[in-house]
Amino acid sequence: MTPKKLQELLEKAQSELTLLYEIGNALRTTLDFGETLYIILTGVTAQEGLGFNRAGIFLADEAEKILQGRMGIGPETGEEAMVIWEEIAKRRLSLMDLISNYRTGKPLENSAFHQTVSSLKVPLTQMAGGLIAQAALQGTPIEVISSEAQQKAAQDPVLRVLKSTSCVLVPLKSRDDKVVGVIFADNRITLKPIPRESFRLLALLAAHAGLAIENSLAYESVRQQAELDSLTKLWNRGAFQRLLLESKAQAERSRLPVSLLLLDLDHFKAYNDEVGHPGGDQALTAVADFLKKTAREGDHVARYGGEEFAIILPSTQKLNALKMAERIRVNFDDTGLPFTLSAGLATFPHDAQDPEALLKAADQALYEAKRLGRNRVSIA
Ligand code: GH3
Ligand code: MG
Ligand code: MG
Repeated sequence: MTPKKLQELLEKAQSELTLLYEIGNALRTTLDFGETLYIILTGVTAQEGLGFNRAGIFLADEAEKILQGRMGIGPETGEEAMVIWEEIAKRRLSLMDLISNYRTGKPLENSAFHQTVSSLKVPLTQMAGGLIAQAALQGTPIEVISSEAQQKAAQDPVLRVLKSTSCVLVPLKSRDDKVVGVIFADNRITLKPIPRESFRLLALLAAHAGLAIENSLAYESVRQQAELDSLTKLWNRGAFQRLLLESKAQAERSRLPVSLLLLDLDHFKAYNDEVGHPGGDQALTAVADFLKKTAREGDHVARYGGEEFAIILPSTQKLNALKMAERIRVNFDDTGLPFTLSAGLATFPHDAQDPEALLKAADQALYEAKRLGRNRVSIA
């Protein structure tokens, strides 16, 4: 080997080490699940990183026997790519800059590729789940690089949805060598062939990534437990405050309203006195289950106090929130419980400009519903 060649190889090895070191360092700064995925995918896609055009993470859901798409980074079209890449080049954004973008904003909210990945539920069987499922099931990386492999991939049910003809799929493993998910990466925009080194580096990165994801999942699970009401398993008051703040910020960004429903059981004290405290607790659990079942997927249902509940309805204007409240009130019969409920409704930004004032407005409306005779919904 010539000295020049040797020098090149050394420099390359050094830059690879620096990259893995930087990503590893970034991963150590957080236990947040979303941030962890974002750091990994930024490392895979940034020019300073592995430089893939697009990358996505799919995580195993053992109960459902699927790989659920969780996050995708990358442009959907060449035009979108130009805009993003020019911006990065113009502002000379480094890997760390890109990562801190996630902490300050929500850069994926409008990404079509992220939406596509997040909506994918890949069955953990080779027939229906294709190569992504295969990478998870066999626990080894798969490259779809040769023309034969590409021909086979053209029939792949999942790669077709991702519009990917050439890609790499690397399993993510936990501490005890169990597969927790799969990273997908490709060059769909530039159609540049995937170099062997990138594939090898991605496999190295995946080893760190698997552990980091495992840690963040454990942390999220503990955090979630701490935010749940122990009796009803609804969000507790602390979580409710956080969600209300986040929903308001989200509403401001999307310029869509967010509605808040406060619900209070009617004459619950009498029921409690009649059946005893444990019986009352059972009824509260039944109410919680009913509310969870009736609310839509993106709604946040919380136990606000003893027999008071709150539901945050993102992207919901007042009239639709009123319909939801009425549905809850009327269908409450389904629980078979011998009491009714009252509700107060307020909407941001129509009725209030901040979470505290919104809460107050909903509370006043609830008070009004009680005053007017209960078993009704009042609006701010
Ligand atoms: P109103 O229609 O005016 O709301 O009448 P109410 O009796 O429901 O209202 P009040 O706030 O006076 O009473 C709430 C009662 O809810 C007091 C208590 O007996 C009961 N309660 C509150 N928290 C719990 C709980 O965690 N478990 C049980 N079993 N009962 C609770
Ligand atoms: Mg009450
Ligand atoms: Mg009550």
